[in-house]
Amino acid sequence: MTRRIAVVGGGIIGSSVAWHLASRNLGDIHLFERDQLGSGTTWHSAGNITWKPVDDNDGPVLYLLDLIAGLEDETGLTSGWRETGRLFLARDADTLESYSAFHEAALERDFPALMLSPQEAAGHHPLLDASALHGAWLNPLSGHLNPADLVALYARSARNLGTHLHEQSRVTELISTGGRMTGLVCNGETLGFDDIVVCGGLWSADLVANHGVKLAQGGCEHFYIILDVDPRLSSTTPSFLSSADMIYGREEVGGVLLGCFDENADLIETSDLPDPFSFSLLDENWDKFAPYFKGAAELFPAFLDAPVRRFVNGPEAFTPDGNPFIGAPDGIDGLWLCTGMNSHGVTISGSSGHIIADMIAGEEPRFSAKPYAPGRFGSMVHDDSWLRKQISDSPSGYYRQVNPHV
Ligand SMILES: Cc1cc2nc3c(=O)[nH]c(=O)nc-3n(C[C@H](O)[C@H](O)[C@H](O)COP(=O)(O)OP(=O)(O)OC[C@H]3O[C@@H](n4cnc5c(N)ncnc54)[C@H](O)[C@@H]3O)c2cc1C
Repeated sequence: MTRRIAVVGGGIIGSSVAWHLASRNLGDIHLFERDQLGSGTTWHSAGNITWKPVDDNDGPVLYLLDLIAGLEDETGLTSGWRETGRLFLARDADTLESYSAFHEAALERDFPALMLSPQEAAGHHPLLDASALHGAWLNPLSGHLNPADLVALYARSARNLGTHLHEQSRVTELISTGGRMTGLVCNGETLGFDDIVVCGGLWSADLVANHGVKLAQGGCEHFYIILDVDPRLSSTTPSFLSSADMIYGREEVGGVLLGCFDENADLIETSDLPDPFSFSLLDENWDKFAPYFKGAAELFPAFLDAPVRRFVNGPEAFTPDGNPFIGAPDGIDGLWLCTGMNSHGVTISGSSGHIIADMIAGEEPRFSAKPYAPGRFGSMVHDDSWLRKQISDSPSGYYRQVNPHV
């Protein structure tokens, strides 16, 4: 009998999971999205894809870029991918030394990265002040895309492969019998399924809670602004990050998209969000953003005079160690998790979908899934004050991975 597989949540992750299941012909695939595809966290993502020559990033990013090229060819749609390269900006010698290790690793992998003096770095970005810099690493493979367009690519191709896409389809209950998933309730109708993959992003924990699964993920505010800079940037201007300042940025329609990974991030409970929360944003949070803007303006003085076109503050799911949950939780057969993407969801959408398809096919995952084991926090997950502290610290942890000196 054909295996029936439900994917719950149609963000970048659910749509990739659906495509991977369909492309492997693993069964009759149904994707349920309560509103429109991409309407949760994905639509307002900055869409940066940052390549790094480390095992948990290199393979997934190269795979994603290959996958996108194939899907674009097949569907005639575009993801908006632009390979601009990314400047890793160093304000001091320790930071530059961290980037040198990346540089050596990039060269070993035959990727033409460059270590740059402050003046050379400023030559790659018209707004960068060389006097604020110690040096930089130019990483050639990074760039950005439009996350909503990538959702459309995954979904169009999945549908071409026979996937049933159900929008305006809210799943209110997952059903299990005798320790095995048997179906779900959607818009009041009970539907039978052999496997259910939960890709509900921030809302995944609510979906699995009544099955005894406590997910160690929580929501934080995460934000960027769009600046109307002068001179305008070209579409080929490299994006940048400065780990010491905990900021990143890239060109956006000639202006600058400037974001940060803030310390002690403000927590968000799904119960505090309006329902529905489709294509919605949180209030501007200038108090949190101001110190990061100050650091950015030291590197790019022109930001001080640039009108702010938009402040984008969205909720997003973080975990204590910055890794997602991908795999099967203990205790219920047929339940799979692919959630808690920690601000990398677009970047690891391809590899996450691949891992779930490998697992459902009963094969060894192509990308290591060990760091993503759903049960890795053991009983700590029940300690709410520990969890809240870890989640709040999680966004800024990203820069400590890039640069241990931060
Ligand atoms: C400001 C900001 C900037 C970011 N920048 C980047 C970046 O540069 N690069 C990068 O890789 N990542 C970035 N991210 C992170 C990335 O956007 C997320 O990791 C990713 O979008 C998460 O995708 P998702 O599919 O897990 O969640 P979502 O996009 O939230 O999708 C989950 C979906 O599930 C649906 N759903 C929930 N409950 C139900 C239910 N009961 N029934 C049916 N459907 C349901 C929701 O409606 C939603 O559409 C950024 C995030 C933010 C907030």
